[in-house]
Amino acid sequence: MQLKTILNRVEKHKSFVYGKVRFCRKAGRPSLAVSVRPRRKSRPVCSGCGHRGPQYDRLAARRFEFVPMWGMAVFFVYRMRRVDCCECGVKVEQVPWGDGRCHLTKTYRWFLAAWAKRLAWQEVATVLHPSWQSVFRSVRHAVMWGVVHRKWGSIAAIGIDEIAWRKGHKYLTLVYQIDEGCKRLLWIGRDRTEESLGRFFRVLPQNVAGRIQFVCSDMWKPYLAVIAKHVSQAVHVLDRFHVMTHFSKAIDEIRAEETRQLKRDGYEPVLKHSRWCLLKRPANLTRKQTVKLAELVKYNLRSVRAYLLKEEFQRFWGYVSAGWAVRFLDEWCNRTMRSRLEPMKKVARMLREHQTLILNWFHARGTISAGVVEGFNNKAKLTTKKAYGFRTYAAIEIALYHQLGNLPEPKFTHSFW
Ligand SMILES: [Zn+2]
Repeated sequence: MQLKTILNRVEKHKSFVYGKVRFCRKAGRPSLAVSVRPRRKSRPVCSGCGHRGPQYDRLAARRFEFVPMWGMAVFFVYRMRRVDCCECGVKVEQVPWGDGRCHLTKTYRWFLAAWAKRLAWQEVATVLHPSWQSVFRSVRHAVMWGVVHRKWGSIAAIGIDEIAWRKGHKYLTLVYQIDEGCKRLLWIGRDRTEESLGRFFRVLPQNVAGRIQFVCSDMWKPYLAVIAKHVSQAVHVLDRFHVMTHFSKAIDEIRAEETRQLKRDGYEPVLKHSRWCLLKRPANLTRKQTVKLAELVKYNLRSVRAYLLKEEFQRFWGYVSAGWAVRFLDEWCNRTMRSRLEPMKKVARMLREHQTLILNWFHARGTISAGVVEGFNNKAKLTTKKAYGFRTYAAIEIALYHQLGNLPEPKFTHSFW
């Protein structure tokens, strides 16, 4: 079987034929150059208007990189024709496998973008040998295509979250669709101001916004104001993940203070390496952490008391009826207010102040999948962490849409991945 036969199977273009295949080299590695020519009597397509026209002349041969095979880069070598278009004048032709000045074929770009979803961009560059820039451009192209072609559809629930993406308190605002059947990143904005979230609602079509039933977010004041203004019909939920984040912060504070105090008073540093024992759910602890926790509980530490209050509060989310949940909340807050653990008291005060929004959680159950905001938050953090080498805002934005946007892709006759 000839290579041409395989190429015609995976990438056939009606008006062009594959010619000779020969060896060449790319950056010292053996590669294959496949010559491509137009079918006899076919007329070139004008890149300006998309109509066929008479050929004007031909340019020097150009190489378009295709999907590599057997560790060898594959190039299409083609002499672009120029069209003598009656509308646009003399124009370079449009070819189906590539566009503009890009030296990668469309298929190869989608191939690289697909791998860049599974591996870090740098790894794709190392394994498949395109330049890092080529990987980046391919992902950017996939994201731009996906964003243009995606459908808003009907959205019942959205989650609004923020992540730090750079040292020095640089934040991103992320908006997710968190419906039981459709979860995806919808939008990314710089900073976490009223203005940043406001931009999302300017992009979101009015009729889609008008049908949103639930909005999950943190108690971050600028968000609260924007949500009240743009989706006033929706039930606003302070979701579990964001509420529990405040507990973690309180425990961190108490633990840090207590560690310092133990050291000052000359006690053993029992709290060393205990951070995750106190923050994770017991079921998620490693064996070593479980042992450590069992040891810690023996001491009458402030950190442990705070931990126990947090773990007890988890019961709140298990209630089926909002009525019972309120009673529990009330009782828990009373007890915490007597605990002399100032950061925990702050949490209790906050819970009381936002009680209505927190109880909305019970109305939203069934529509919003539990833990979804947390899942997205973790994935988003991982994506920005893996983003070493592309710390600009534009690159982070592209990486996040690519990983979490669940963006559509064009249909191909042959699947390379
Ligand atoms: Zn034209």
